[in-house]
Amino acid sequence: MYKIILNGITNKYEYDELIKIFLRPEEYLLFCDSDKDKENSTNEESNFYFHQLLEFNERESNALKRMLYEKLRDLTGVRPEWGIHTGVRPVKLVGELINKLGSMEQVIDKLKNFYLFDDEKISLICSTYQTQKEILNEPVPDAIGLYIGIPFCPTRCLYCSFTSNQSQPAKIQEYMDALHEEIRHTGRKMAQTGMYPESVYIGGGTPTTLTAEQLDKLLTEIKHAYDLSKTREFTVEAGRPDTITLEKLEVLKNHGISRISINPQTMKDSTLELIGRSHNSNDIIKAFDMARNVGISIINTDIIAGLPEETLQDFENTINTIIELGAENITVHTLAVKRASRLIDIDKEFHYKQALTVKNMLALSKDKLYKNNYKPYYLYRQKHMAGSLENVGYSKKGCEGIYNIRIMEEHQTIVALGAGGISKVYYPDENRLERVPNVSNFEIYISRLNEMLQRKDDNLFRR
Ligand code: SF4
Repeated sequence: MYKIILNGITNKYEYDELIKIFLRPEEYLLFCDSDKDKENSTNEESNFYFHQLLEFNERESNALKRMLYEKLRDLTGVRPEWGIHTGVRPVKLVGELINKLGSMEQVIDKLKNFYLFDDEKISLICSTYQTQKEILNEPVPDAIGLYIGIPFCPTRCLYCSFTSNQSQPAKIQEYMDALHEEIRHTGRKMAQTGMYPESVYIGGGTPTTLTAEQLDKLLTEIKHAYDLSKTREFTVEAGRPDTITLEKLEVLKNHGISRISINPQTMKDSTLELIGRSHNSNDIIKAFDMARNVGISIINTDIIAGLPEETLQDFENTINTIIELGAENITVHTLAVKRASRLIDIDKEFHYKQALTVKNMLALSKDKLYKNNYKPYYLYRQKHMAGSLENVGYSKKGCEGIYNIRIMEEHQTIVALGAGGISKVYYPDENRLERVPNVSNFEIYISRLNEMLQRKDDNLFRR
């Protein structure tokens, strides 16, 4: 057990995030100035228990992180590839550094020597940044990202931390009625303020849990409520193959949707069963065939590196099959053991154990995808990820998802509807976002809809 003391620091949160990459929670206690009392009582009760005391007297945040990094690297042999960076958006950091330093050479130097990034990660984020710059300009102020959430799924996956619900048809219909009201309301407000959707993303949950009629009505409401004449992209996350039918795909196609997600996660049947999905790999292939036959031109897929009981060979089979199926977008996720998931109850240290396997899986996916003409175009990190690695979205040229890039860039207002939707108002002059959340429980959302609408009026549409 390590006892780590940060003198002159009152908020230890960001340092704790860094330490967690090296040490499991039961391997250390961390104290800063604001918890001196706790430190003293721990001294009295269990001093003998600590086998090493690490004390730091540096107040400059990044210098302190570098000291922690170097000390813990030497003690544990762990070498985090993202250096001292614990944030979610390393590609955004590249953009900020370019604005500040002026040249890519200086950015690379800073990432390497100040943030202590590994060379491979530097090359990954710089290439992702460059792809983003080629595709997108800065968003114009009235062009927003529109997110619409359908918080229902047929079953709950083992690693899910989202409030996905398995609900009765009557309840789902009640939710849809409330959602339509929010769509109409925000549509009126957006028209008054001149806002329009640059991209629309219907996500979840699993939107194709809805019936074909419900999908049709939802898309009709959207079409009537918003000016879609300048919308560049409209995505529906079909997600789970067991919810996809020909009828639903035809509804999507008839409404002009050209981009959907089909999320296999893995092509290994025993893993699909283990993680609680009610479909097999054959259903995924059938869903692809159906979507292509209907004329959907862009299919996004999500796969996960580090799923329980999967080997590098299993992961390779998955990625080979998805490439053969011709998915235009492939997002390679690293398994994260999140607080609200069932997986954390089974093994809260699973992500620590998977670190090396996942590192090899990510390297393999990068190699295969580059060789098959996919390029990384968005990237983000999450807490509790195996090996503290990353999620990377790869795309064939010209098929990149605008919504995915914008949400990571944080330079655009996002209007999010439905239970769990978190709108974000972008203030360009201050380069900051302000969150305007809806409640996440769908039943509370239905009963407090008027309050959600008022909250949007007060914070999103007050100009
Ligand atoms: S499909 Fe996604 S939202 Fe639904 S249960 Fe699985 S992980 Fe959660």
